[in-house]
Amino acid sequence: MATEKLYYQDAHQAAFEARVVSCQPGKHGYDVVLDRTCFYPEGGGQPGDTGFLSGVRVTDTHERGGEIVHFCEQPLSEGQSVEGRIDYARRFEFMQLHSGEHILSGVIHRRFGYENVGFHMGADFVTIDFSGMLTQEDLSAVEAEANEWVWKNVPIEITYPDAEALKTIPYRSKKELTGQVRIVTIPGADICACCGTHVSSTGEIGLIKIFSCVKFHDGVRLEILCGRRALAYLSEIAEQNRRVSGLLSAKPLETAAAVRRLLDAEAAQIIPGTPAGERDFDTDFLDYILAVKVVDGVEAAIEHIARHGTGHSDAIVARDEAAQRRFVQAVDSAAVYVNASTRFTDGGEFGLGCEMGISTQKLHARGPMGLEELTTYKYVVRGNGQIR
Ligand SMILES: [Zn+2]
Repeated sequence: MATEKLYYQDAHQAAFEARVVSCQPGKHGYDVVLDRTCFYPEGGGQPGDTGFLSGVRVTDTHERGGEIVHFCEQPLSEGQSVEGRIDYARRFEFMQLHSGEHILSGVIHRRFGYENVGFHMGADFVTIDFSGMLTQEDLSAVEAEANEWVWKNVPIEITYPDAEALKTIPYRSKKELTGQVRIVTIPGADICACCGTHVSSTGEIGLIKIFSCVKFHDGVRLEILCGRRALAYLSEIAEQNRRVSGLLSAKPLETAAAVRRLLDAEAAQIIPGTPAGERDFDTDFLDYILAVKVVDGVEAAIEHIARHGTGHSDAIVARDEAAQRRFVQAVDSAAVYVNASTRFTDGGEFGLGCEMGISTQKLHARGPMGLEELTTYKYVVRGNGQIR
């Protein structure tokens, strides 16, 4: 007999009365089935509920063939009436996260056409995987719009359209669906087939925050939080920053600059010298002088090389294969090295015979001179730490 799903009638209901239909020993204590329940079973990326049935702890909830199975620590008697209570604070956090995830996915789908191809509510973060790449600017724009939908406090609609009506609805779905389809609509922001529990209107989500974005398969994986969990995490970050600000005697929004100054001073102790200025990178010192710039990542390094490089030889020393690929593809120099010294650049090393004269230009033929040699080659050299 299918369990009556009270969580679909009212996702905010925390307590209920029910009758025990069956109780059997299971892998996780006792599998208890009731005639009705507020306990949401794991599904659609949302974890199963926990709570109590008449004082007996429920550690998880799953669905098996239409029946909702409560994993209980102690047995209950068949036919017995029970008072159920879910851990509502936990469930409400899941509802904030789940509804927030729909808004983000809807906004990204509309703006970029990307699909949500994975969704997991973890202990630390909610992760969402998308089928395409997003830049930092894209993410800022998406986050700003998602929060606008929260503040508009739009009522969330849940419908069960028939097959004919369903054909006319442009809803998102991870798989081909058959039978009754539950559609969660956030008017203007998103339409999605989903079995999860949601807040009644978007204002209850409170806040949607993207914390990280990394490349994942052919797209990106975002780590996000919403509502109470977003506030808790941001509060911890603010507390960390307050302590760092105290330690460095820097204003809260100037801690990064203060850390940078500290590291520069430390670096200057290890490598004595004077700080390099912008002009140093365009100067040929004719001496054993090195101008060093610390950048935030491979893109900033590529940009620096494009502006100041001679187009002769450039190297990346990195474990990250994506960074290596990006460097080799983007740096337009005669010889580009991965994990090897740029000092290998000469005709002898490249097996083209001896070298006549020295050049610091990209238009620098390495081999018997002719028309072909006067067009530019790009030598890509891969090593594992070789120096000359
Ligand atoms: Zn969903």
